[in-house]
Amino acid sequence: MSSMVQARDALAPVKQNRRPLKSFVKRLRQVVFTLRDSGGRYDRECPVCGFQGRFLGVGSPPRWDAQCPRCDALERHRLLYLALSEERPIADDARVLHFAAETAVRNFVNTPGRDYVTADLDPAKGDLALNIEDIALPDESFDAILCSHVLEHVDDSRALPELFRILKKGGTLYAMVPLVEGWESSYENPSVKTEAERDLHFGQWDHIRFYGRDIRDRIRKAGFELTEYTAFGENCVRYGLVRGETIFLCRRPA
Ligand SMILES: [Zn+2]
Repeated sequence: MSSMVQARDALAPVKQNRRPLKSFVKRLRQVVFTLRDSGGRYDRECPVCGFQGRFLGVGSPPRWDAQCPRCDALERHRLLYLALSEERPIADDARVLHFAAETAVRNFVNTPGRDYVTADLDPAKGDLALNIEDIALPDESFDAILCSHVLEHVDDSRALPELFRILKKGGTLYAMVPLVEGWESSYENPSVKTEAERDLHFGQWDHIRFYGRDIRDRIRKAGFELTEYTAFGENCVRYGLVRGETIFLCRRPA
């Protein structure tokens, strides 16, 4: 018994020394791969600005081939551009409201002839300071509303009816959210309260849910007719899109 204890004790310092080294080597290898891949793994094409070549890696953990180095468009911005080009264009003279406006999107949506307005809860970040759960604007104000990666921050049972209300009849809400298609229901958890807990459970410190397939029921419940535009097949390869990422085209019936 005592010899076993002695044997364990004799091994203990060796184990303590080896683990950090192994860990260090693994981390070092990861850093090398990250540096190698952050400048792009394959040549891609940006549908927004026409750039052809390597996209940059972004995010934590990094997503490779994610950001166009010329116009800064991310995967979801390029997907939106394709949806606007191929599926549901915005009229040249449309009145457009853009929540939490991303510069890369603003650059291709804010075209001459359109009445384009940005909005954010933070007055410093938009033309209008708006609470998306209680929007201080008249009914039927806009032809198109862009709302990408906003709904997971708010009470969507209040926000979606508000977005419906301020859309003109026949207008479209272009909505995107972080989504797990394998989940029947969205993951919400009232016991998750701190920023660290929200980051762990929902993927970001200020997210309050992670959506499942029921996003569609939530959109329809607000009165919208729903069409989807999904990144599929060769488009994902060519344009560096996230496979299966979806834009929800939510039309207020005419
Ligand atoms: Zn680009």
